[in-house]
Amino acid sequence: MSSIRRIPAPSLRVGMYLHKIGGSWLSHPFIRSSFLLTDAEDVRKIMESGIDSVWIDESKGDALQDVEAVGEAPYPDDIGAAVELPGTPAPDPQGSSEGAKRIHAVSSSLDVEIERARNICLAGKAQVQEMFSDLRLGRTVEQESVLPLVEEIAASVWRNPAAMISVARLKTHDDYSYLHSVAVSALMLALARQLKLDDRMVRVAGVGGLMHDLGKAFMPLEILNKPGRLTDEEFAVMKTHPEAGADALREGGCEPEVIDVSLHHHERMDGRGYPYGLKDDEISLLARMGAVCDVYDAVTSIRPYKRPWDPAMAMREMARWDGHFDNRVFNAFVKSVGIYPVGSLVRLASDRLAVIVEPGVESLLKPKVRAFYSTRSREKILPQVIDLAAPDCRESIVSPESPEQWGLSNLESLWL
Ligand code: C2E
Ligand code: FE
Repeated sequence: MSSIRRIPAPSLRVGMYLHKIGGSWLSHPFIRSSFLLTDAEDVRKIMESGIDSVWIDESKGDALQDVEAVGEAPYPDDIGAAVELPGTPAPDPQGSSEGAKRIHAVSSSLDVEIERARNICLAGKAQVQEMFSDLRLGRTVEQESVLPLVEEIAASVWRNPAAMISVARLKTHDDYSYLHSVAVSALMLALARQLKLDDRMVRVAGVGGLMHDLGKAFMPLEILNKPGRLTDEEFAVMKTHPEAGADALREGGCEPEVIDVSLHHHERMDGRGYPYGLKDDEISLLARMGAVCDVYDAVTSIRPYKRPWDPAMAMREMARWDGHFDNRVFNAFVKSVGIYPVGSLVRLASDRLAVIVEPGVESLLKPKVRAFYSTRSREKILPQVIDLAAPDCRESIVSPESPEQWGLSNLESLWL
């Protein structure tokens, strides 16, 4: 018999393991829906939010004692539930250092999470593609329909942000628009948490990211997929996509903040953006976040009209753009994604090129890297994984590098 049962919300007690909350994700007060209830305040929040039933996992927490369960779990056990990841190694009983244990655990969970993130991206791509088709056929799209997907993206980002963010960056010409939506949702969720927004705003950020570019569904395909630079006339047409998207979202009854992200993600802090040329505080926080996440994913992705920038190069370039982004938001973005995001190419002090394979835990400047190329001999070398945060490590990063300049392609094989 399954250890997961559905119970009336008033039967919930501290000590039970909350597996899933009934009803709309947007209407409950938590960003995670699976966790051990240790705080009476959390139980109170659930009562007060009007949720009538919840699922508990009796193998992970206290069982229901005195009230009849409503029913067994009607959905697969693994959706959004894995707080403890399968494959995460148990602590070393011989007692290696705490730091080493933690890094080992992160390494394992990144591998596991990358597989999950791939599956979420596949499902997400299909769902966004369907939304594009629906809009082109004159149907409406509703925010409710994307909530389960955003919840899965959020669950993955909370387990290990680097996995989802790195996997969603890898696109082909054909799936750009769809995966771009998934990637921007993941980036928005990570950024919202970094900015310590409240739970509701975190969710709205994820939904806003997923739906920000739906207006592109109304753009002529010959412009959207043009394999070269746009003419002024074509770009003028492209500039109508935020309003087209906002209109569609309004028609579908989306929340005002979600519509706002769609309408204003191309505004700039200096007033030189579009469609309204809003400035500074005239642009909402969520739209300012959307601007950063949108551009980062766009410049690091394959586009029909240009090659992708390396992620660390993109961070460096975007930091130099004056007047485009809100500095506070951009700085938080760098903290959430890393100065050297996974998959970036860097030059090491030892004249080797390396790829970032894991973000730094203690310091953004000390990630785990895989060195694979000598800049002196200009030849590939036997790959070596180096933890720049290890106490005895004398290696360090000198600069981000452009893979194109070194004639390197397929860096993914080194970290994926
Ligand atoms: P997108 O490709 O999703 O790009 C979103 C935003 O990322 C762009 O907004 C721009 O701010 C930034 N971005 C993307 N690539 C580059 C780049 O190579 N350099 C710089 N500095 N910024 C970049 P923007 O410019 O308002 O464009 C909106 C949309 O219009 C783009 O969305 C894309 O669909 C289309 N677009 C813009 N320029 C071109 C182009 O030259 N050719 C084609 N085929 N489409 C273009
Ligand atoms: Fe856009």
